[in-house]
Amino acid sequence: MPDSPSAAHILAEKIDRDGPISLSEYMGIANAAYYAAKDPIGEDGDFVTAPEISQMFGELIGIWLSDLWMRKGRPGHIHYVELGPGRGTLAADALRTMAKFECKPQIHFVETSPVLKEKQAALHSSAAWHKSIDSLPDDGPLLIVANEFFDALPVEQFVSTGDGWLRQMVDRERNKFIAVPSTQVIEKQMSKSTAGLPVGTILESSPASVQILGELSHRIAQQGGAILIIDYGYDQPGTGSTLQAVKNHLPISPFDSPGTSDLTAHVDFHSLANIAKTRLLSVHGPVEQGQWLKALGIDQRAGKLAENSPGKAEDIRAAHRRLTHVDEMGRLFRVMAATSMDWPEPEGFVYGES
Ligand code: SAH
Repeated sequence: MPDSPSAAHILAEKIDRDGPISLSEYMGIANAAYYAAKDPIGEDGDFVTAPEISQMFGELIGIWLSDLWMRKGRPGHIHYVELGPGRGTLAADALRTMAKFECKPQIHFVETSPVLKEKQAALHSSAAWHKSIDSLPDDGPLLIVANEFFDALPVEQFVSTGDGWLRQMVDRERNKFIAVPSTQVIEKQMSKSTAGLPVGTILESSPASVQILGELSHRIAQQGGAILIIDYGYDQPGTGSTLQAVKNHLPISPFDSPGTSDLTAHVDFHSLANIAKTRLLSVHGPVEQGQWLKALGIDQRAGKLAENSPGKAEDIRAAHRRLTHVDEMGRLFRVMAATSMDWPEPEGFVYGES
């Protein structure tokens, strides 16, 4: 097996040397190794993402961005920024569509994986790559897209004892990784709303997501533009662990073989919306992915594609269903946008009239 033993090795050494590590450190090290080692996306990988299901997904995002840009008055010097662009498929479909409207931004990819960077480069020779958001350009509006990016960022978990909160840590026991609460209370009370929660309640948060969206929101407020976030997650504050690991399209324990499975957590859209609002952006959604795609015209696009390629009509219908149906990705996945105050209201967030 070419599976990387290195993440498990690094983690084991660290824990043996320093003692238990936080869950977010564990997840950060495991995922960095995982994405560095292989391209996990696709039917023969570990999971399939929306842009890999159908070109319609990226095309509609391209239309959404072009519409916003045109109604803003077609500013000249703009940047398309994608966070974790995977194989580059979404960007290819979106940018091809945008070019039809004469919207031709400079392309920036924020990507840490050398394997995926190579795939992206095959499709996007003129892109600039960034290892973090810090080096993104600070001149000109930013049109930022993040599909299944925030779910890959590390989370922290806290466990209620009834008399304060313990931090969830990761330790080793007989050559296995296990979750253990910290031995000391790290916070007497998390917030007013968490007072009185039953013993054993788990609270999850993603400091990395908050930090990244906070910084990007600040940039958008200064430079203009928008960020579009699409991911599985929840709209209201919740409790419980959403940490999960997927390998070969099947769930496994997050503590089995770190670095060889995709570790994710559901995205806390409530917190992300608050961060963007405190940086003075207008927040739209979150709404269900299926509804958003329908509001942007996925039914018509699917009909047109099927008309052009009758032999593929069944595949197109199946892809449409996967992306929009409430029993598939349509409801679990949410879409949220945050826009600069002096940019127009984006499309797709009011639905139900048609
Ligand atoms: N958006 C793509 C890929 C989703 S998988 C799609 O929809 O198909 C997650 C992506 O985020 C991968 O490209 C992965 O390499 C990247 N990624 C994960 N953690 C990252 C981090 N901390 N910084 C930058 N990119 C990261």
